[in-house]
Amino acid sequence: MATLSAQPRFVRSITLTRAEKFSSSEFYADINLYSQLYKARAPHAVELEVYSVPGLERIPFDDAIKQRFVPTTTGNRFGPSWSTHWFKLKITVPREWAGEPVELLWDSSSEAMVWSMDGVPRQGLTGDKGVDRRVEYQLLKKAKGGETVELLVEMACNGMFGAGNNGLINPPEEDRKFLLSQVEIAVPNKAAWQLFYDMDIILGMAKGLPENSPRAQEALYACNQIIDRFDRRDMENALQRCLQVSQEFLSKKAAPGVHRVTAVGNCHIDTAWLWPYGETRRKTARSWATQLRLMEDYPEYVFVCSQAQQLEWLSKDYPKLFKEIQEAAKKGRFQVIGATWVEMDCNLPSGEAFCRQFLYGQRYYEKNFGARCKVFWLPDTFGYSAQLPQIIKQSGAEYFFTQKLSWNNINKFPNTTFTWVGLDGTKVLTHMAPCETYTAQADVSDMIRSTERNRDLAFSNQSLLPYGNGDGGGGPQRAMLERIRRMKDVDGLPKCETGSAVEFFESVKKEAKGLQEWKGELYFELHRGTYTTQAPIKRYNRKLEFLLREIELAATYCLGLNRDFKYPKEELDALWKDLLLNQFHDVLPGSSIELAHIDARAIYKKVETKAKKMLDTTLDCLYQSSQQTGEDERYAAFNTLAWPRSEIVEVPVHAGDNLQQYSANRNTGYVKVHTDAFAFKDVADSKADHQKVQAYTSGQEIILENDFVVAKFNTSGHLISFFDKSDVRELVPQGQAGNKMKLFEDVPLFWDAWDVEMYHLNTGKDAGTAKARIEEVGPLRATLVVKHALSEHSTAVQTIVLTASSPRLDFHTEVEWHENRTFLKVEFMWDIHSDVATYDSQYGVIQRPTTYNTSHDYAKFEVCGHKFADLSEHGYGVALLNDCKFGYSTHGNTMRLSLLRSPKAPDVNSDMGHHEFSYAVFPHKGTFHESNVVRESYQFNVPMIIKSVSQSALKERHPASLFEIEGAKNVVLDTIKRAEDSDHVVVRMYEAYGGRALFKLKSALNITSIHRCNILEDEGAAVEYNKEEHASGWLTMHAFEILTLKIKVK
Ligand SMILES: [Zn+2]
Repeated sequence: MATLSAQPRFVRSITLTRAEKFSSSEFYADINLYSQLYKARAPHAVELEVYSVPGLERIPFDDAIKQRFVPTTTGNRFGPSWSTHWFKLKITVPREWAGEPVELLWDSSSEAMVWSMDGVPRQGLTGDKGVDRRVEYQLLKKAKGGETVELLVEMACNGMFGAGNNGLINPPEEDRKFLLSQVEIAVPNKAAWQLFYDMDIILGMAKGLPENSPRAQEALYACNQIIDRFDRRDMENALQRCLQVSQEFLSKKAAPGVHRVTAVGNCHIDTAWLWPYGETRRKTARSWATQLRLMEDYPEYVFVCSQAQQLEWLSKDYPKLFKEIQEAAKKGRFQVIGATWVEMDCNLPSGEAFCRQFLYGQRYYEKNFGARCKVFWLPDTFGYSAQLPQIIKQSGAEYFFTQKLSWNNINKFPNTTFTWVGLDGTKVLTHMAPCETYTAQADVSDMIRSTERNRDLAFSNQSLLPYGNGDGGGGPQRAMLERIRRMKDVDGLPKCETGSAVEFFESVKKEAKGLQEWKGELYFELHRGTYTTQAPIKRYNRKLEFLLREIELAATYCLGLNRDFKYPKEELDALWKDLLLNQFHDVLPGSSIELAHIDARAIYKKVETKAKKMLDTTLDCLYQSSQQTGEDERYAAFNTLAWPRSEIVEVPVHAGDNLQQYSANRNTGYVKVHTDAFAFKDVADSKADHQKVQAYTSGQEIILENDFVVAKFNTSGHLISFFDKSDVRELVPQGQAGNKMKLFEDVPLFWDAWDVEMYHLNTGKDAGTAKARIEEVGPLRATLVVKHALSEHSTAVQTIVLTASSPRLDFHTEVEWHENRTFLKVEFMWDIHSDVATYDSQYGVIQRPTTYNTSHDYAKFEVCGHKFADLSEHGYGVALLNDCKFGYSTHGNTMRLSLLRSPKAPDVNSDMGHHEFSYAVFPHKGTFHESNVVRESYQFNVPMIIKSVSQSALKERHPASLFEIEGAKNVVLDTIKRAEDSDHVVVRMYEAYGGRALFKLKSALNITSIHRCNILEDEGAAVEYNKEEHASGWLTMHAFEILTLKIKVK
């Protein structure tokens, strides 16, 4: 009679759990495979001394080594959060370890850096639990036995993700103590580690492949067999017998034609986020030194590193490490990538700031690493401007890599490998990693997602896997590289190989066919609160972008008139770099901790102070001030915009000036000034104006009226009627009102500082009560002052202004804000019919729906706009301008501008306190495309500069336009600067409305030649120039084109 086999069937769920526990560090860790990873340990081999740095200072190695260290042991706790503790380690290797490799195991429940005794950073360490854990440092490849090794460890009292109080994004716990739980040396068991990594892949396939696939079943069976063979009583032979099974399984090759994955090592280091800039400077050193060590053991390993700013910091703080990185870069192992100064926010910076991100980034890489970057690498930012493709291509880059749209919370983005078509039609090959993360663990699940979530397999059978721990740095781990080796060519998975991003894109470019195209912005359907959070940061950014523009313009003017003038290039570079730094994608969006925002505001303050002084001294070179000459004071108005303008300006009261009206406090007065493009005008030359404005009451209504409009307000300051006199047209719908302050409940699902969710729109309520009164009555300027009690805790004072010379109605607002998860918006309703609204953007505009028809429409319930949003129908429109805000929500004929939020994480004090901002409504005939809205929005943001000058200087220097565009009102000449590498003048202009332009560039300068160039100022084709006419030949531009010209001046 036959006997039955002793082998029972195996059950999938039970086998999977059995296999998980087999390698677990938590369960059965005293007897399972995990328990075998080290053959020997010596906890008493390390003598330990510590020096705790007073306060929260981060000191360099050279200072630390000189301090007095005192003995300490494991089991002690160190703190508070953000403090630093230096340890001296004296390690004696046991004699019996001769011939073995030796590792130091260090767990301080925090981040730490191993230093050699001669002051070279060797490797970063991360303690505590979690995937970021990295506690091993290879001390000796082969011990002699009995030798002594000395080194230093710099312990930073923060985790990889800062020190959030009971949660990732909570404000930091300020006095946390970090436990030094493990300091020992150990001998790794090579066979056990091999099996550990093998099991990782086999178990991953058993879990991740379709349950009924033969390969999944085979993997499950192999797991069972391996664990069966793991005989604790005969470990050495058991491990070899287990490895026979695992290696047989892993030796089966992938089928031809399977998907190909290029695994690119990366380490996302947020330049500030849940930690301040100061900690980032150390994170870069820890993360990158670690990668150099991995390169020593894994010759196939390639690492990419972005953000020129971080490299510049490293070169100053850690010059020896920087040299090592440059060496690794020469060998192609450590590749710089990204092309920009920092990985910036891509909603809020101006068009020119985008250009400078690339200009400073590419020039840095070219100078320090010998070449420009081909890949614009930006895995983690909150939406991508439609103007980026053109700027990428004009900045010497060719490809774009990201993944962030995988976070969309309404629609799945439909493409993986595709052609991104920009606002002007420029095309960029783009890849959004289908693994849907930039911190991939390079495990089986990443491989499976790379095909399963790849939406363009029909056109391109390859994808990029950005692997390596990140956000707080860290980067790839040994385990990831081991997994990639095992997944190189194995049946059941895509083929995976380490490589570089550039090689990946070049291979796609060669092989892909029929790629789909996506036109316009890559709108991110999440983090819509970041257009508004941390209002002071946004305000500084907008104001300083314009201030630096004015210095460059004035300095170039000086250079044009006087070729001996010393253009302040280095000073300007420093200011630009600081401004660009704060455009990092957690700083400008307002999603960092309070410490980071305090740093950012201090940097802004410093930039502002220096920049204002520079502008003043530069203008003094143009027109000497009266203080310099001792003459009578005169005031000049300087128009820094590219077109003539007539405005009512405020000037100090001064005898002889033609003041037609004093201000309410009588210290200043108003005068109407007309200036040419980029030119000065003596304020006293202004003529009395025949246009008048007045303020008066009629019953319960308060009225501001000039030659263009009549604006009626109720006693709460609501705009109840806005009437265009020449068009005979009422703009406020019957029974409705504008300028309504509204409070919304603002409680997102998780990401407090980041998100506002659609449902907040259900909760809008009129904010408190308000009282309006007339302050100024004309004839040049009429004003109302409205005092608001917005809530029990918050107040506002608003000055509403109408001048004699414009239909524009301005609202200057100051708020004392003390709220909790409450959103303040101002709301206008217009009698205008349109399914789209037009928003100002980087060097162009973008139209978005005002309807909620489709999920793509209502996903845009809150969008980013720069200086204006416009709602127009046939024949007429109204723009809502602002001077430092970015969030708009337009639905039907309701336009809202987002003013202030009050999230509590990760900065509990976000936006509390005093705020100042202005917005305006500007009615216009015709549609947006026929309007003057673009120029008006510049004028609202860039007031004429009123400067005290000497009388003789004003007489001597006849005002003349530095530059003028003749023939095309749709071209905006935005930037005038000195060339980077010569004293040529560089001007940058853009087509602002989305059409063709034909024009001539005129100038008062003594021009000898003009060439087209790109953003990096590489010289291109010559442009015809007629000296007698002081004008270029005819120039053409296409819709939303950015054109840069390099001009030689005698
Ligand atoms: Zn990030």
